[in-house]
Amino acid sequence: MSQSTAPQSAPEHRTVLLRGGDVHSPADPFATAMVVERGHVAWVGSEGAADAFASGVDEVVDLEGALVTPAFTDAHVHTTATGLALTGLDLSGARTLSEALGLVRAFAKGRPAGDVLLGHGWDSARWPERRHPSRAELDGAAGGRALYLPRIDVHSAIVTTALLDLVPGVTAMTGYHPDAPLTGDAHHAVRAAAHGALPAAQRAAAQRAALDHAASLGIGSVHECGGPEISDEEDFTSLLALAAERPGPRVLGLWAEEVADEKDARRIRELGAIGAAGDLFVDGSLGSHTACLHRPYADDPHTGTAHLDAARIAAHVTACTEAGLQAGFHAIGDAAVTAVVDGIRAAAGTLGLDRIRAARHRVEHAEMLTPE
Ligand SMILES: [Zn+2]
Repeated sequence: MSQSTAPQSAPEHRTVLLRGGDVHSPADPFATAMVVERGHVAWVGSEGAADAFASGVDEVVDLEGALVTPAFTDAHVHTTATGLALTGLDLSGARTLSEALGLVRAFAKGRPAGDVLLGHGWDSARWPERRHPSRAELDGAAGGRALYLPRIDVHSAIVTTALLDLVPGVTAMTGYHPDAPLTGDAHHAVRAAAHGALPAAQRAAAQRAALDHAASLGIGSVHECGGPEISDEEDFTSLLALAAERPGPRVLGLWAEEVADEKDARRIRELGAIGAAGDLFVDGSLGSHTACLHRPYADDPHTGTAHLDAARIAAHVTACTEAGLQAGFHAIGDAAVTAVVDGIRAAAGTLGLDRIRAARHRVEHAEMLTPE
């Protein structure tokens, strides 16, 4: 895009005419031009009408046919985890065991000793050596740092001694092997320890990476789904603080904790959340056969797991509505979605449908729905 610029005021105070594009807007479906004034869309219209603005603006941008849309919203984000994946070590391209160790060594080099190294994507079945790195080899490559390396399927992981040292009792847990990938309880414990031990600076770097990546994709607003079972308060409040003080996507926080009364609602607001919502689990996931179904799984003789029933859902929705908070739930299976619908219907019976509607409660995922 070409620009003609009259240098003066700061960018956020400039008036800009964008023209010669395809401006997507319900106000004028054939618009090709728009005027942005102090960061707000002031006018949208056609090329002919744009001439009238050309001399009065600070800047004219020729869009050269580009499409202009409103910024996107990503409505379900785990920002820190996304950033850690973006900034972590990707071993999926390693063709041999020694190449993988070389990548670990290069990744670790020069990093503070207290950093927790996170990586992903290794698969020893593809390596000519046909084995995973030993703990001693990993300890050496990571320079004594804590390192967590889940296998490509993320159901097992190899780790360094420094990370094991962060988990008291790990050697007695199921899934612990002195020199094989950790599975089961031992794996979950080291994963939690790795994430829990992240220094604040490393976590902030991950959050910045995730938000910058979102901005690069045209995402102007991110809904962070935090909660006591999936992140922690420090992670949540630090993200909201970081996003508030830098340019980039706006972050709206949803905190997944049940609300019973005004006191609970106040605590949610004190965290900076706009809703007691997001991943408030009504059920689990299809992949692990824990999504809650009306009929048994075809490949497993049970119907999954229910964490919340309609009565608790109704209590949460009622309390949130009365407190002016958005309520929301993670519900994947059809029985979980039915429980949410029944709970909301019961809350509407108490408070009236209009109040429930006005609070704009939400459901995350909703992957299976009954016809009803
Ligand atoms: Zn989620």
